[in-house]
Amino acid sequence: MSREASADPDAAVQAFKENILLKLKYAVGKSPGNAFGHDWFEAVALAARDQIADRWEESSETVDRSQAKRVYYLSLEFLMGRLLIDNLCNLGVLDIARQALRELGVDLDDIRQVEPDAALGNGGLGRLAACFMESMATLDVVAHGYGIRYEHGLFRQVIADGWQQEHTETWLDFGNPWEFERPEVSYRIGFGGSVSTQESSEGPPRQVWTPGETFRSIAYDTPVIGWRRASVNTLRLWRSRAEEDLQLDRFNAGDHFGAVADVVKAESISRVLYPADSTEAGQELRLRQEYFFVSASLQDLLKRHLDEYGDLLNLPEKAAIQLNDTHPSIAVAELMRLLVDVHQIEWFIAWRLTVGTLSYTNHTLLPEALESWPVSLMERLLPRHMQIIYLINAFHIDSLRAQDIHDFALLRSVSLIEEDHGRRVRMGNLAFLGSNSINGVSALHTELMRHTVFRDLHRLYPERINSKTNGITFRRWLYQVNPALTGLLTQSLGEDWQVAPETTLQGLEPLAEQAGFRKQFAECRQRNKVALVRLVQERLSISLDSQAIFDVQVKRIHEYKRQLLNLLHTVALYQAMRNDPATNWAPRVKIFAGKAAASYHQAKLIIKLANDISRTINSDPTVRGLLKVVFLPNYNVSLAETIIPAADLSEQISTAGLEASGTSNMKFALNGALTIGTLDGANVEMSQLIGSDNMFIFGMTADEVESRRRAGELEMTSVVEGSERLAGAIEAIRAGVFSPDDPQRYANLIDGLLGYDRYMVCADFDAYWKAQRRVDALWHKPTQWWRTAVLNTARMGWFSSDRTISEYASDIWHVPFTLPRPAQKPAG
Ligand SMILES: *Cc1c(COP(=O)(O)O)cnc(C)c1O
Repeated sequence: MSREASADPDAAVQAFKENILLKLKYAVGKSPGNAFGHDWFEAVALAARDQIADRWEESSETVDRSQAKRVYYLSLEFLMGRLLIDNLCNLGVLDIARQALRELGVDLDDIRQVEPDAALGNGGLGRLAACFMESMATLDVVAHGYGIRYEHGLFRQVIADGWQQEHTETWLDFGNPWEFERPEVSYRIGFGGSVSTQESSEGPPRQVWTPGETFRSIAYDTPVIGWRRASVNTLRLWRSRAEEDLQLDRFNAGDHFGAVADVVKAESISRVLYPADSTEAGQELRLRQEYFFVSASLQDLLKRHLDEYGDLLNLPEKAAIQLNDTHPSIAVAELMRLLVDVHQIEWFIAWRLTVGTLSYTNHTLLPEALESWPVSLMERLLPRHMQIIYLINAFHIDSLRAQDIHDFALLRSVSLIEEDHGRRVRMGNLAFLGSNSINGVSALHTELMRHTVFRDLHRLYPERINSKTNGITFRRWLYQVNPALTGLLTQSLGEDWQVAPETTLQGLEPLAEQAGFRKQFAECRQRNKVALVRLVQERLSISLDSQAIFDVQVKRIHEYKRQLLNLLHTVALYQAMRNDPATNWAPRVKIFAGKAAASYHQAKLIIKLANDISRTINSDPTVRGLLKVVFLPNYNVSLAETIIPAADLSEQISTAGLEASGTSNMKFALNGALTIGTLDGANVEMSQLIGSDNMFIFGMTADEVESRRRAGELEMTSVVEGSERLAGAIEAIRAGVFSPDDPQRYANLIDGLLGYDRYMVCADFDAYWKAQRRVDALWHKPTQWWRTAVLNTARMGWFSSDRTISEYASDIWHVPFTLPRPAQKPAG
């Protein structure tokens, strides 16, 4: 089959239509007359899946023949979102499917909405894994994603009386047409038990682990197709099952619950995603999840390797395993265990293979997010791994001593065991020592890694740390979410611009000077804003002025991301609009969305504050509609897809030094929103490429934050007294202006801010206020605003995840890749 859809469009529509009807009848079991939305969705998904499966088979055969090196991407999270439009687009059959459905009396835009989001992730880290899967397939990088098939993804957020409630998410209730269950691909995963030494006549004694309990992993495969039918890779997610579904002896003895106790215990491992973002989950079940999916994945890839080569000594030449954050870092010990205990490879050879194969991406420097496990827990749950970790540690320290390094403080700091706060295993250090490459996710974050968390390890291994700035897939975050703008770009840049937007988008720069083009660009935004206005009306019964600045902060709720700073600005702006009606205020809509970890009280209180502020301001006639505040519930990929193309202003205002990269900053700017932000994470590279004149950069730099922290200047009373606007906003919140039903609600929050402002909200407030006034001033000059907006889109090409993946492929994995090619026009 060729890479292009059939040359005869009408024949292709008819064929697709036939296939939908066949699926509806034989797979869904419905006829067109009694099919509901979900039935149609399933039929179309299955019809598309057939085409993907054809390419999948071809891809696998090509790879098998070439014996190409494989990439394994291990991630506890894959925030895939919906897949229907993604798959139809990448197959190149979106219009064909739309037409086929139309002829059946069904609207594709209706049925795309019934697909549940695959929300198997918390936020940026999981979404990065999803963008990477798509880019790897597009670039023909031979890759497998490995993770957990959570029965329940990230909780569904409901806002009740302004408070967040968490409800169970049920994405699998109607089945999942994209996946293939593989009951035959199953591995045994052990926990607990004991280790014994077994003497052997040939060679040294062997360690034998006898687990106390064992479960089974079952594979579920989802094919991931690249853009324009490039390669098809596999996302393999594991479900946990008991060895036996029912203990018949217990059942027959009348113990009906006890008979299924193992099943419940086993299935709890893949039951639910931990809803903590950038904070450490810390419970035993979390460690079980990590080990479960790592062990299943490593057993699986070693089996594949042995089937292919019959030998493990060439593992680093044929496999590259990327650890997405420290969550899979137990892989270092598990790979050693499999090589040494199961495959009987000598320790030092096994260590060379392990380090040669693994590489590790760090995603956060927040101390509360650096994973570590109590030694006692590890000894109980993974006794053999604990031994292996001790051995790795001891051999490492021996090797340093052999190099004449005796500095006690240094040896302590690079140790795998933390001795200070009860003995704990430092998973970050384990990942570092066991990997040939350690990368940060933006230039600033990488530099900070070198000087903070991994300072001493970096001194010992100065070659290992490198930077790979995150990216996003433009297929989803521009072509799919913003068809209006995509159409305009095609009209202006020619058919082939989408093939290599990394370079072609720059072609927009001269168009920024053309009034006609700017007008069309603004009209695209307006259309997206009207769609968002409709959604807000439907969901919240709040009417918005689509001519106002849409000022958007959507992301996980976290103190370091500083939604509170934005809320303080909202209140100060509200007060200013009431106090100075003569000022020519630019009308604004403040849009918030995001989930808070269920156990994160402060973040949940911030959500309540946003809703309290929203209710108060929206019902105050004295602001004359100049300001509206909206908190949209249940932020997820699908909601992001509606909000981002409608944004005029993107809020990226984290305390400098704390956001590792950010990726929503890229999605917004690509769609032409202007950024108000700190010099943090990838904002730094954005300001270099877009030009800091074309963004609203404000606030302390990471260095300034660090000096202030070191000087202990976190008491803010004098700062607040020195800023009339900040003082006014703080006083209003503290006095209960937004919470008349409970005037004390925010007293602790505000006192905390004044007493110990860890995230420097107050210290950055005045700079933020001033930057916001620059926003207003530019909004009043539409020519300049839209010129700037066009330049933002034009200069975002570098942030494509294709660029990021090409860097991983050449610098870390050492695998070939091919960038997308223009479609061949059918001959004649
Ligand atoms: C892109 C994305 C994120 C990451 O947002 P940041 O602002 O970079 O933290 C989180 N959640 C969803 C649903 C996303 O699409």
